[in-house]
Amino acid sequence: MLTLADLESKAPRTPIALLPTPLVEASNLARSIAPGQPVPRLLIKRDDLTGLAFGGNKTRKLEWLMGDALRKGAKAVITTGAAQSNHARQTAAAAAKLGLKAYLVLRPPVEGQGQGNLLIDELVGAKVILRDSKEQAEREIQVLAARLAAAGEPAYIIPVGGSTPIGAIGYTQAMIELREQYEALGIKPAALYFASSSGGTHGGLLVGARGGQVDGQIWGVTVEPNAGELREEIVRIANEETSLLGLDLAFTTDEILLEECASGPAYGMYTKDADEALRLAAKTEGLLLDPVYTAKALAGLMAHIREGRYRPDETVVFLHTGGTPALFAYADQLAHPR
Ligand SMILES: *Cc1c(COP(=O)(O)O)cnc(C)c1O
Repeated sequence: MLTLADLESKAPRTPIALLPTPLVEASNLARSIAPGQPVPRLLIKRDDLTGLAFGGNKTRKLEWLMGDALRKGAKAVITTGAAQSNHARQTAAAAAKLGLKAYLVLRPPVEGQGQGNLLIDELVGAKVILRDSKEQAEREIQVLAARLAAAGEPAYIIPVGGSTPIGAIGYTQAMIELREQYEALGIKPAALYFASSSGGTHGGLLVGARGGQVDGQIWGVTVEPNAGELREEIVRIANEETSLLGLDLAFTTDEILLEECASGPAYGMYTKDADEALRLAAKTEGLLLDPVYTAKALAGLMAHIREGRYRPDETVVFLHTGGTPALFAYADQLAHPR
């Protein structure tokens, strides 16, 4: 059975996250999702509390990505994403902590978004470079990496979301951590739900569940209409990670569980279902979600609970992947969900 020591024997880890994150009861929220209907026990895994600069799921991936970067002698890291990228913010914070320079090649913010993650990027000392499209961003990354290498400041390039097989190890470790928490509570949850977007979290969790013999369904909730491509990406990441770890496991697209009902029309577009979920978590638990990822993920889980998929004697876990700084950048959309 897979352990943290097995992972650490295969790849260097730089501890920067506050682990283990808490696994907490959310009984008010559970009751409010479907009043008068039998609902499962609901627990929340608080990966919004991983530490650095407001935390989130990317910090777990960065423990392994930064381990790899330092091993390779990098003096800088370069990454990319949306203006309100949580991944870029956590990468910048990790770089600050480890004494590396961070370059973030981001898409320009919409008006009023010099807030939230973008504000934190500046505070932790990252250099932010704005480019209009993903293609332009990719070109800029290559140019920048070449310039830094020539200046004797080699950069480690981290793709969108930190979703490489190395980054995914962070979520294999998270599954091992969950297994220990489940054992301590004497529970065997029926399912785990979370926002799935660039595939690293999902792929890593699958490897951890299969390798660590943790039962229960693993449900990714999509945050944009991309389930087809995402399914392929998750399988690619999980399979490359298993070969990196030397595990005898293989995954296929037909076993990937993705719920698409809450994705809305586009990435970053706030929806009425997400709004209901975000406000319910806030009002019943004092728990803050974000408009781009976690509110949609909870909306997907709420739909399944309302369909009566789980019995009251079953436990369901919601993995809170973070993203809360985006709340402030989305203040206008929060007032007007579509
Ligand atoms: C990046 C992110 C996700 C999705 O994680 P992936 O590994 O990219 O699928 C979910 N929630 C939040 C808050 C994120 O920032």
